[in-house]
Amino acid sequence: MPFLPNVLMCNIDGTQYYSSKKISCEHCLHKEHKTGEKTYSHAVLQGAIMHPDKKQVIPVMPGSDPKYRWK
Ligand SMILES: [Zn+2]
Repeated sequence: MPFLPNVLMCNIDGTQYYSSKKISCEHCLHKEHKTGEKTYSHAVLQGAIMHPDKKQVIPVMPGSDPKYRWK
């Protein structure tokens, strides 16, 4: 049985790729804990084109916080 014939599937997931309680930059996201401590992080939205019958996965350009985009 064909899986979505003539359709490419692009799976998308968000993830955090940096986290620190000590090192931060002006573009960091931050969480403030009940103790007053802060955790700084960067996140990304990543997509990949894939098919259940194929071993190959084709990643697409990641998206990040609009403040931190390449210029
Ligand atoms: Zn940062």
